[in-house]
Amino acid sequence: MRIDILTLFPEMCEAVVSSSIIGRAVASKKVEIICTNIRDYANNKHNKVDDTPYGGGMGMVMSAEPIDTAFASLYNPETEEKPHLIYLSPKGKNFTQQKAVELSKKDRIVLLCGHYEGVDERVLEKIVDEEISIGDYVLTGGELPALVVADAVCRMLPGVLADDVCFTEESHFSGLLEYPQYTKPAVWQDREVPQVLLSGHHANIEKWRREMSLKTTFEKRPELLNSAKLTATEIKYIDEIRQSKHDI
Ligand code: SAM
Repeated sequence: MRIDILTLFPEMCEAVVSSSIIGRAVASKKVEIICTNIRDYANNKHNKVDDTPYGGGMGMVMSAEPIDTAFASLYNPETEEKPHLIYLSPKGKNFTQQKAVELSKKDRIVLLCGHYEGVDERVLEKIVDEEISIGDYVLTGGELPALVVADAVCRMLPGVLADDVCFTEESHFSGLLEYPQYTKPAVWQDREVPQVLLSGHHANIEKWRREMSLKTTFEKRPELLNSAKLTATEIKYIDEIRQSKHDI
């Protein structure tokens, strides 16, 4: 897969995409991540990429032309399909694990990072396929959101994590939150690891983990249970937890 990041701050993105799991995925060529500086496509003497907003008001707006030209430089329309272009924006649809899985199946995506007051709407209308938000708050620029999306997508690519279980059992993949995790020592400051995890009995460990996943979801994000796929036994288990809380 290839991920392009269109940004005014490529150094911010390059630092992250060369580190940790995403950095290893790039080094082992499981993904190619290319950061392009929109400023390199400013066709004026002072490399100006923004201007004051029409209608007045505070701040600056990113101009349409350098973004359009930077995007056009990424592919040849005569021989290649237009890459799927995502604008990171607080007005976009909220990013989810399902969206990360969906994007990981594409050969190519381009992530456009806004800055200042945002981007001239006309270039968004012309080239953007979808807008993604990483949450209902406003950040200074689209670089952190683009890196969030790139990281989550890379984790879903074949071979990036050691085994598919690394993500299929993680929070949100199946609609539930993950069970609690423990590591050595078995007793830490008088707190013991649950005995079942020391038993070596795989079926019991699996059952405990599923139940803890249901319990954690019930306690921390109960609304997720409305859309999770649960068996009749699991629904009964949740009802029992609900009842026991009610009885306290
Ligand atoms: N004036 C814009 C508004 O009120 O919707 C906010 C502009 S923000 C300061 C600058 C840039 O940061 C945006 O163009 C966008 O690319 C990015 N950004 C900020 N918050 C974001 C979020 N929650 N999700 C995705 N991108 C975000």
